[in-house]
Formats: sequence, C-alpha cells, structure tokens
Amino acid sequence: MIIVMKPGATQKQIEAVEKQLQELGFHTHPIYGEVKTVIGAIGDKRMVKANNIVHMDGVENIVPIMSPYKLVSRELINENTIIDIDGVSIGGNELAVMAGPCAVESEKQLMEVAIKVKEAGAKILRGGAYKPRTSPYSFQGLEEEGLKLLANVGKETGLKIVTEVVDTRDVELVSQYADILQIGARSMQNFRLLSECGKASKPVLLKRGLSATIEEWLMAAEYILSAGNPNVILCERGIRTFETATRNTLDINAIPVVKELSHLPIIVDPSHATGNWRWVEAVAKASIAAGADGLMIEVHPDPSSASSDGPQSLKPEKFSDLMMGLKPIAQAVNRVI
Ligand code: PEP
Ligand code: MN
Repeated sequence: MIIVMKPGATQKQIEAVEKQLQELGFHTHPIYGEVKTVIGAIGDKRMVKANNIVHMDGVENIVPIMSPYKLVSRELINENTIIDIDGVSIGGNELAVMAGPCAVESEKQLMEVAIKVKEAGAKILRGGAYKPRTSPYSFQGLEEEGLKLLANVGKETGLKIVTEVVDTRDVELVSQYADILQIGARSMQNFRLLSECGKASKPVLLKRGLSATIEEWLMAAEYILSAGNPNVILCERGIRTFETATRNTLDINAIPVVKELSHLPIIVDPSHATGNWRWVEAVAKASIAAGADGLMIEVHPDPSSASSDGPQSLKPEKFSDLMMGLKPIAQAVNRVI
C-alpha cells in the first residue's frame, strides 16, 4: 500500500510513520516528491493492522497497490526510472544501445568489435563470459578471463560493460568487472539469483524468460527491487510460440504494456528474438517505434567463425547502417540516438 503524506509533512512525521509501519512488519520505501512524500509499505496482507496509520500526524490517506508487484508498479512510482551509469543513461530521452558479441572469445575480437560499435554510436558493450548454452558440449565462455577482457576493453574505449551472471556465487565477482549485471532468459525465475543481484551495487538487466508472462517477468523484477536494488532494466528478447521460422517471437506488445504497468526502462534484443541477422534491423526499428528505451544487439567481426550465435550476429558495418537507419525512427517518437 501507499501512505500519502500531506504536503509539508515534516521529516519527523515521515519517520514516525515509517517506524510504525516497520513495527507492523512492513518494509518501507519513502519516495520524496517535490510537493508530497509517499511511503511505499510492502508487506503480506497486513493492511488491516495498518488502519491506525491513517490517523497519524501528517498522513493524508492510504492507497492500496492492486498489482501483485509493488515496487515495480506505476501505482507506487509514476515517474519513469532513469538509470545513470557515469553519464550513460537508460530510460531517459536518449536511447541506450548495447552491442557486442554473444560471447567474449579473445582480446582481439572484443577490442575490434568494441571500437566499431563505439564508432557507430553504442555506449555499452555486451559480451558473455559465462554462457548458459542449451548443450553442455557447446562453448561455455571464458569466465573470469572473459570478465577481465571486458573490463580492460571497457576502460580503454570508455564503453560501459554489460555481462551475464548465471550463478549466485559469481554475483560479487561479476560486479567487480561489469557496469550492468545481465540475468539471462533461462535464469529469469532463478529466485536466489534475483535476490542476490538485488543486493548488488550494480544495475541489473533482466531478460524475459522464454515462456514467461509479463506478470511473471515483473514479479521477477520485484525480487530484485525488494532485495534493495532499484536499478532494473527489463529486456524483451522474444518468447517461445508455435512459430518456427524465427528463433523466438518478439512480443512487441510487451513494450507499451510494460510502459503502462511499470516505471522501469525496457529495451529490446532483436538478435535473440529473430535468430537471423537479416531481420534484426527491421525488428530493432519496430521496437524503437513502439517505445522501447534502447536495444541490445549482437555484433561480431566475423559471424561465420563466432563461437556462439553467429547466425544472428551483425557484422560491424551492418550495425553501423542499422544505427543510421534508427535515427529517423527515433526522431519520429521524440527520442535521440
Ligand atoms: C545472450 O544475451 O547472449 C543470451 C544468452 O540471451 P538470452 O538469455 O536472452 O537467451
Ligand atoms: Mn547470444
């Protein structure tokens, strides 16, 4: 529920309400607005016990949050969340583009792709060091060595780094090297991993699970926020449907739906959604037109030799063309790229 404080409520009154709520077993999240302060009170069906709160000094009223997710919901926070990573923002007017190889393979591969995606306008470099593959016999990633390469290339180019973490035991290690922790589609309902990333100091990119509903996805985000990390970026990457012509089916609907339900930024990964580099540009454009806050795109200097996801990876020149092609689309929806 949301406790709405009267305009001009004092800090002392706000603290007294928080204290009372905490004694009743709620977690409290005060949100200081320009005119009013509201306190998000998250607890499990303890609403009844909170009835006396409405009579406390400085309280205007109490509004229940109807959705099952609370901290993620626009009912609690109406203003869009903008995540700032040393001047690179996600969720603001400027579109955030993350690009790079599916997997980190070598320093040469990573540096080459980083320089090219930066030239084309990307601000964030992606690359997997831990690769959750469908087959245990496929390349599993360079692990810590890959993290080190990412951090070095990030430092040299000024690009921010996003990379996947697949195990609770690695969250701290990955946080030392990455600017954004990626939770992959296959891990979206790994609740221990979500909570662990919720305790991390880095923003989290949460991909939608292969068969997850929007509500399940937002509930997964709620795990991260409720563990203390407010900086979550949602990533639609296609869901599994009866269609086999593409690797997955991009749920374009998810963009306006999530925008209406949640204040969190949402980006789209057209590479995993289509599974084929030839369709990436069209789907990237459609995503921006539909209101996405950015894109995650796989780019490889030589897709035919890529150790994973070569067929969906763009060559750097194609990525550069795509970035140019996005400009008029971005302009049409009042965004900059
Ligand atoms: C990836 O980004 O390389 C990846 C494994 O994506 P997803 O979790 O969406 O399949
Ligand atoms: Mn991939």
